Amino acid sequence: MTQRQSEQTPNPGRHGERPRPDGSDTADFGFEDVPASDKAAHVRAVFERVADRYDLMNDLMSGGIHRIWKAILLDRLNPRPSETLLDVAGGTGDLAEGYLRRGGRTAIVCDINAAMMTAGRRRAATTARRPDDLRWVCGNAEHVPLPTCSVHAYTIAFGIRNVTDRPAALAEAYRVLKPGGRFLCLEFSLPTLPLLDAAYEAYSFRVIPLLGEVIAKDRDSYQYLVESIRRFPAPSQFAGLVEDAGLARVKVQALSGGIATLTTGWRL
Ligand code: SAM
Repeated sequence: MTQRQSEQTPNPGRHGERPRPDGSDTADFGFEDVPASDKAAHVRAVFERVADRYDLMNDLMSGGIHRIWKAILLDRLNPRPSETLLDVAGGTGDLAEGYLRRGGRTAIVCDINAAMMTAGRRRAATTARRPDDLRWVCGNAEHVPLPTCSVHAYTIAFGIRNVTDRPAALAEAYRVLKPGGRFLCLEFSLPTLPLLDAAYEAYSFRVIPLLGEVIAKDRDSYQYLVESIRRFPAPSQFAGLVEDAGLARVKVQALSGGIATLTTGWRL
């Protein structure tokens, strides 16, 4: 492991969980360690608080670059008119909408947080070209409420970082994909270029929580965002988890100097 990788994972438990002295598990919640059984509730509360301002904050924080990353993912996926996408941790559904706009047949957004999907439905009522082909399902990535071998593509954008049991979520990705189906995950990572690294660090800790405070009236949620990025495994470690779940031909692509990473694979 490089020094850089070990810095990105101060607690490099392969599954993001660590045993406590009393034998129970903890999970990372930003820089805090919380009982693993509590993390989903903490994450749910974060996204409930920011749901109504989520899309606006995404554009402001990233200067719109998240749209380019999602377009790159959709380019790789190349939606086909006979295919169904499951977008897990799909939030307000912009990726799913993009999938339909590019010619996919059906897109299912699955998210643990009803408030995020309510905000998404409201937006999609005016922006989605084919709202009837966009479905919304409330569910946990660790127990996807869909049958085995039921979708052609599984995507998760900026969601896996928030999941408590990531191997369970990846096992579910494998389960719901049809043989020949594709897995695509976008997640934040840390820049690999030294100068970008320093600027990104300053921007993350000084500007993003401030934007959260001013725009979403919630500094803590955006502090969680920047901290959780630093606790997430390095791209090569995450790719190892994807392979462990049974996905094949796993590839990693750094985007924007490593600020985000696209990890792809296939269920063969
Ligand atoms: N995919 C959207 C995007 O790219 O804008 C939303 C990403 S947002 C940063 C993370 C989303 O993950 C939230 O909507 C949150 O409710 C959802 N989430 C967190 N934990 C989850 C879980 N265990 N299962 C399903 N969704 C989850």
